[in-house]
Amino acid sequence: MSKELASIKGQFPSLRDGGVVYLDTAATAQMPDRVLDRLVGFETSGRGNVHDGGHRLAQRAFDQYEAARGSVARFLGVCANDEIVFSYGATGAINLACFTLGRLFVPGDEIVLSVLEHHSNIVPWQRLAQERGLVLRFIPATPKGRLDLSFLGDLVTPRCRLVAVTHCSNVTGAVTQLAPIVSAARAVGALVLVDGAQRVPHGPVDIPALGVDLYAFSGHKAYGPTGIGVLWARREVLAGLEPFMSGGQMIENVTLENATFLPPPQRFEAGTPPIAQAIGLGAALDWMLGLDWSVQREREAELTEALLDGLDRLPGVRPIGPRTLVLRQGVVSFTAEGICDETLCRELDRRGVAVRSGHLCAQPAMSALGVASVTRASLGCYSEAADVEAFLNALSEIIRERGRRA
Ligand code: PLP
Repeated sequence: MSKELASIKGQFPSLRDGGVVYLDTAATAQMPDRVLDRLVGFETSGRGNVHDGGHRLAQRAFDQYEAARGSVARFLGVCANDEIVFSYGATGAINLACFTLGRLFVPGDEIVLSVLEHHSNIVPWQRLAQERGLVLRFIPATPKGRLDLSFLGDLVTPRCRLVAVTHCSNVTGAVTQLAPIVSAARAVGALVLVDGAQRVPHGPVDIPALGVDLYAFSGHKAYGPTGIGVLWARREVLAGLEPFMSGGQMIENVTLENATFLPPPQRFEAGTPPIAQAIGLGAALDWMLGLDWSVQREREAELTEALLDGLDRLPGVRPIGPRTLVLRQGVVSFTAEGICDETLCRELDRRGVAVRSGHLCAQPAMSALGVASVTRASLGCYSEAADVEAFLNALSEIIRERGRRA
């Protein structure tokens, strides 16, 4: 183990005793000391409500909450803190976008999604389409689990108002080439929303370079707390949207008949927000910004290659997703002939290896890839060669035992 990696894993209390081989970061990442300390610090010596002012604890809470917005902005490479809306996970962020943008759409308008989306980037749009008479179109997948962009020209028509796609598939690990999507959308005046839930845990994002309009992600997959997410949107986009939820903290003035609202981002943060979680997320993203991402990416590529290679060698095992390290992250799904994924997951757990199995909240992706369910091993910045080896050894043992029993 390299010194740097030892020092990364050593910063994670849930991992440093080596009790579990954790290969489920795509579901939820573990939290480093830095984030846990910040959460405890807030709860023990800074707890107060934001926006209330009036006393020093409230002021401190407000300052830390707003500083966390700044951390998110730095991580996404954007300058404006008021483009950062805190929400409840990527799901909350996409729903916020869906309900607010949706009010601007009229019957017959079109939204383009892809078949590889997580349910959280399909179901809200389906419900919106049903309510407002919109048309949904889907970018298909290639056999290797990438978005097949050869159909873009047909799919993104002049009626298209929005293209909403994942930055990285939670099933195949494929990273989406956003440039052609952005130019197709621009050509017809449509917006582009990107679900960054699986991309953000793998390093800082350069939003201006991507040229997209909205970007959503979850805190808990990015080494931060649960219950917090982010919707980033260009200032002009946010400015044109009505509130999503309403109540306290988002109003300017209220009478018995009417209310006026604060500008973004407060307009979209009704009620007491998840303050500790936002502060924890800010700490997590600051912590990530302190890592050397060229080293991290190289290591992730090596480990992904080791995973793919190891799976290729096992009898009856079929890895899903691109067999290349280009535009591919360490999210590796597979099927094993004759073993149900749920059983496989439990058997791996018995051997101390944590992976995920099932449809991964991506049933249309499963259909497109011709599988009912998969088992998925996913890497985090603390993953190491020994984790991959332990996983492959455990899997090989399970397959051997099955073979002997058959
Ligand atoms: N989008 C993708 C690609 C995901 O993988 C997930 C969760 O696995 C989500 C969205 C939803 O994230 P959350 O459940 O944190 O809201």
